[in-house]
Amino acid sequence: MDDNEKTLLLDKSYTCPICDQKIKVKSVKTNVAKFVGTGPDLRPSHSNINVTKYEVASCNYCGYTALVKDFPNTTQVQRKLLRENIQANFKSREEVPCDSYSVEMAISRLKMALLCAVTKTGKVSEVGNICLKISWLYQDLVDELSEDDPGYEEKKTAYLAEAHNQAMNAYEHLSKARMEEDYPIAGMNEATLDYLLSYLAYEKGEYQTAMQYLSGVVTARGISPRLKDKCLDLKDLINAKLHPAE
Ligand SMILES: [Zn+2]
Repeated sequence: MDDNEKTLLLDKSYTCPICDQKIKVKSVKTNVAKFVGTGPDLRPSHSNINVTKYEVASCNYCGYTALVKDFPNTTQVQRKLLRENIQANFKSREEVPCDSYSVEMAISRLKMALLCAVTKTGKVSEVGNICLKISWLYQDLVDELSEDDPGYEEKKTAYLAEAHNQAMNAYEHLSKARMEEDYPIAGMNEATLDYLLSYLAYEKGEYQTAMQYLSGVVTARGISPRLKDKCLDLKDLINAKLHPAE
């Protein structure tokens, strides 16, 4: 994957809304990522590139970082908070040229985006969405491990624990967003979000809640066959926990 990765990328330019500097962000070219499918927590997989690594814009001059789609959208109050709490403490640096982002780099960019989202008191869905993507990337780190790596078991356990923690943060914030915000929430329609919350509730061990979220989705009109299949799989998993003897 790595040799080809840079040929799938281009540099996009943005103007930072906090410090007005021009920055470059590596982005996946349109229509080059080959979609394979999504996991039970909607983690996307592509055969030729990990797109989640390229969804963050980060300013190397002031530290302001956000998901690309949220990057330009700041209010005056938020810009003030970001200048006082992020820019004031950030050491400006020249951009380090590189061909692509590693998963570790992408995780640290997302963690900076999380800090900025909390600092600017952004929407809870924005915070939840970032946590979900961090959880996905920790699972990607597990996928990148080889069983021959020294410390394989320890690393795997640590990454999976991080993935779980971030998924639970995502659950907390996205379930709050569901009550407070209008759809799309974190880019999801109602059926997709309810499916995801059901899966995350299942992961948390809240099986009754998981079933409640799921019940509306299964009967929702116009849901994709792919989502329907995921719902049926999840329903089996939840039932197995609710009625273990059957
Ligand atoms: Zn900046």
